[in-house]
Amino acid sequence: MRDALRPEAPFPAAARTALADATLRANLRRATSTIRRRRDQVVGEVEDWDRLRAQAAAIKDHTLRHLDRYLAQLEAAVAERGGQVHWARDAAEARDVVADLVVGAGARRVLKVKSLTTEEIGLNDVLAERGVEAVESDLAELIVQLGGDRPSHIVVPAIHKNRFEIRDLFARAMGLPDLAPEPTALAEAARLYLRERFLAMTVGISGANFLVADTGAVAVVESEGNGRMCLTLPHTLITVAGIDKVVPTFEDLGVFLRLLARSATGERMNPYTTVFSGVVPGDGPQAFHLVLVDNGRTRALADPLGRTALRCIRCAACLNVCPVYERVGGHAYGSVYPGPIGAVLTPQLRPDDEHARTLPYASTLCGACADVCPVGIPIPRLLVHLRSVAVRADEASGRLGARLAPERLMLRALGRAFAQPRQFERLQALARVMRPLGGRQGRRLPGLGGWTRSRALPTAPRRSFRRWWREEHR
Ligand code: SF4
Repeated sequence: MRDALRPEAPFPAAARTALADATLRANLRRATSTIRRRRDQVVGEVEDWDRLRAQAAAIKDHTLRHLDRYLAQLEAAVAERGGQVHWARDAAEARDVVADLVVGAGARRVLKVKSLTTEEIGLNDVLAERGVEAVESDLAELIVQLGGDRPSHIVVPAIHKNRFEIRDLFARAMGLPDLAPEPTALAEAARLYLRERFLAMTVGISGANFLVADTGAVAVVESEGNGRMCLTLPHTLITVAGIDKVVPTFEDLGVFLRLLARSATGERMNPYTTVFSGVVPGDGPQAFHLVLVDNGRTRALADPLGRTALRCIRCAACLNVCPVYERVGGHAYGSVYPGPIGAVLTPQLRPDDEHARTLPYASTLCGACADVCPVGIPIPRLLVHLRSVAVRADEASGRLGARLAPERLMLRALGRAFAQPRQFERLQALARVMRPLGGRQGRRLPGLGGWTRSRALPTAPRRSFRRWWREEHR
């Protein structure tokens, strides 16, 4: 699968490089702590927050259990309102469907509103190969695009940049050498840059936050209003969405909209929520195509625990609280879905990808992600589950046998020692002899390099508890 986001190195190496970037760490710390503070405040205002979360999880689980039925209902409803549904088994099929529609409509330029799914399928590269320029309408996506960069956050794709870096980028790309690094000046520059492009576009490509099965409606949630231009001005609108985005009814949509804004940006209500269905003659786009992408989702659905990741509504709350994400940022994950959700979703969407298999280890298992997740995804449980899946796959392919042997041997020996008091005391005596090795980082134990490279070996106490008890209570 084409994946423009995949880094050169797997997560452990990519993370080490990111950790060395002090500006990146400062940018991330500032941005995530601000969003966290705002989120905590507005979530605290909702008395029935936990009930709402449970309701959302139940709706998602029910929908995923009956996904075939709801997708068929969605397709029928879209067709009834003058739209057309296209099915794509994988990223390649999805790219081809969209590129054919764009080229067929005679467009050389398309306007896009923030769509993670188009990033997931690597759409922009294929459009470029077919001579079509994609213009991002979202401010943060525009920053990423102009800088030849990659998104590093689900909701705030340019979170890794500070306003001075953005000013320099805009000054270069837009020919504005005197641009001030103030947020209002930067937003105005982007507005003027984009506005003239909006008016000339005949094809728009959007993502979808939710798809409503009973009416064929598409809900797009954004903060700037640019997306609404992309959804209303072009003659042809192509929406690209994963099959997991479907919810059964309009009432269900209301539950998710209440959760999403507070979890994502710490706002009580989302600034621009556009809900549209099909085609209305003489008003808005006159051709509507909905491309439904599987790309590994039905495989994830087959795993009773793994499928809980498909509840995700992409609010990014789990990224903003994750101590690992806050230090390394999104690029190290090599996926359009970084942070805790990326660590559990990407390996399921790309099970054969070596890089993706390292992601479930990108966590301290502290559980902060599960605490904030508005749809109650048990992310730490999933991480442990996917680690075992990765180990089993590596073992089956013979990749891990030799590397695991010392660890297995040690754990077996420890198991025996812990089961017998005398053996256990002998082990404690040995640990006391080894005291000089403890307390310092970088002392690598043979066969356990991965564990001891970045952890200090604990120093054994001079007296064990048992011995202290015997001596003090004689
Ligand atoms: S896993 Fe939960 S917290 Fe993270 S992005 Fe998805 S819905 Fe939001």
